[in-house]
Amino acid sequence: MQRKGILYVISGPSGAGKGTVLAEVFKKVKDLHFSVSATNRAPRANEIDGVNYHFITDEQFDKLIEEDGLLEYVSKYGNRYGTVKSEVEKMIEECKDVVLEIETTGASNVKRMLKKRVVSIFIAPPSMAELRARLEGRASEGNSNRELRFNTSIHEMMCAYYYDYIVVNDNLNDCVEKVVNIIEGERCKVKYNRHLIKEILNKK
Ligand code: 5GP
Repeated sequence: MQRKGILYVISGPSGAGKGTVLAEVFKKVKDLHFSVSATNRAPRANEIDGVNYHFITDEQFDKLIEEDGLLEYVSKYGNRYGTVKSEVEKMIEECKDVVLEIETTGASNVKRMLKKRVVSIFIAPPSMAELRARLEGRASEGNSNRELRFNTSIHEMMCAYYYDYIVVNDNLNDCVEKVVNIIEGERCKVKYNRHLIKEILNKK
């Protein structure tokens, strides 16, 4: 018997390095799946439709909401982002562990809905000065968007109090190692593995 899937919700301010950290984590952790969100924002130069996001139109986003196709959704930085219900439900049914890379409001909604199966991890920058420097180095964002993202990050940092884990991304390798350890550690919790005890006892 296989245990049910765990939902890892990962958040952190823009510039904390979630994307880079997650890319490394996915190389190291086996059997981990990424939930591809839907957004109506335009793809960035390096982004691929269906891999980073499902890039959809405003009308398609409205339709997804109407059809109750989103587990949660938010408007942020003038765009909309949402977790595709069918994507997450399918993976959970298939006993897969899923990563949701979503912002803090969505994270708290998912935690409220699926409490027992959700592990939330907050990736934080080492300081707000470092965060600002990282955002200023980002070519993909315009000046006003960068400022908006920085101001939002102060509120997002306050939300970190409600997460299960906080990992500071000062050194990439250390941060990745900690996130990997959290994921692997959670997988060993008895609450997800009760079936193992019976299986071991009955094994010839
Ligand atoms: P970006 O435009 O930088 O890709 O994402 C902006 C913010 O939206 C990030 O904080 C990201 O975590 C968040 N985000 C991406 N997908 C979702 C989603 O499906 N739901 C929610 N609530 N936030 C999302």
